[in-house]
Amino acid sequence: MSGALDAGARPGPPGPAAPAVPLGDVLRAARRRFSVELSPPHDEAGAARQWEAVRRLERLRPVFASVTYGAGGGDQDGTVELAGRLRDGTGVRPLAHLTAVGQPADALREVLRRLRAAGVGDVLALRGDPHGDPRAPWRPHPGGLQHADQLVRLARAEGAVSVGVAAFPLGHPESPDLDSDTRHLAGKLRAGADFAIAQLCFDVEEFLRLRDRLARTAPDLAGVPVLPGLLPVTSPRVLEVTRRLTGDHEPSWLQRRLAPLLDDRGAFREEGLEVALEAGQRLLAEGEQVLHLYSLNSSGAVERLVGELGLAG
Ligand code: FAD
Repeated sequence: MSGALDAGARPGPPGPAAPAVPLGDVLRAARRRFSVELSPPHDEAGAARQWEAVRRLERLRPVFASVTYGAGGGDQDGTVELAGRLRDGTGVRPLAHLTAVGQPADALREVLRRLRAAGVGDVLALRGDPHGDPRAPWRPHPGGLQHADQLVRLARAEGAVSVGVAAFPLGHPESPDLDSDTRHLAGKLRAGADFAIAQLCFDVEEFLRLRDRLARTAPDLAGVPVLPGLLPVTSPRVLEVTRRLTGDHEPSWLQRRLAPLLDDRGAFREEGLEVALEAGQRLLAEGEQVLHLYSLNSSGAVERLVGELGLAG
């Protein structure tokens, strides 16, 4: 570790204490609840809108709010700030995303210490994607990490209370097949993660197949929570976002439902919410207890889903 980092890590005045019970345990005990994803705002207007949304979501008592980490590893300050603000100013438990992009291991340790100093002990450990072109071949930073399992170990070594990892119902785009993808997911969990969050997917069946694959591949991990991700497609812009996140995997049934409504904003929103509601109902019927809702920093669609699915705490 460098001298500069040593200096940055010197103990200062005690900050807020991180929660003591790991999220994996909290999630295992939870019944019909939700968690929500937020992103650091880009400007002051965005920050004000987001905070209004946070206040509304807080009343519904999400199990946690996850805070994304800028693509390319560039927005660590925003993540640390927003997670710390949630910790200090709300009753919502923050989970900070952290990626290994563009940083040596020492810099990642430093981010983990800053989070800890802000009272944030829960981390989603991610490899991330190459800066500039997310689909370019992955090259680790010299002195950095190759895969997320290494970041799980590093976060554990730095004393994280909980560590989550990413799961991919359709398989990660770089995975040659679903079996190897599932083996690597199991590897991340065995490296010390206590839960996983699934990339959003439109077909509930895809998530259920991931659940089954993991149970077959790794019976020793039975009971480790894997949260299904749900993003209500409330506008054509949101549809674009979901296409990007799912690698343009948009089922034909969804196209049939949404394409005729592209020119009618109200009807599109209603149909998008209905699609998410149906997926949520199915997931609950399949025994899922906590749904991870992608908010895109606004509360309306999440409030509606939480209300109709009965997920408030
Ligand atoms: P890894 O687990 O390292 O997997 C990457 C590939 O390598 C996969 O094909 C995997 O099967 C394989 N693999 C894994 N371990 C090994 C191993 N030990 N040996 C060989 N192969 C292995 N990105 C951001 O930039 N910021 C965010 O905030 C963010 N949040 C996310 C939240 C969720 C819920 C999800 C699902 C994704 C998020 N991402 C985020 C995207 C994520 O960073 C990318 O999808 C990235 O390409 C993969 O990250 P990973 O942690 O799954 O990587």
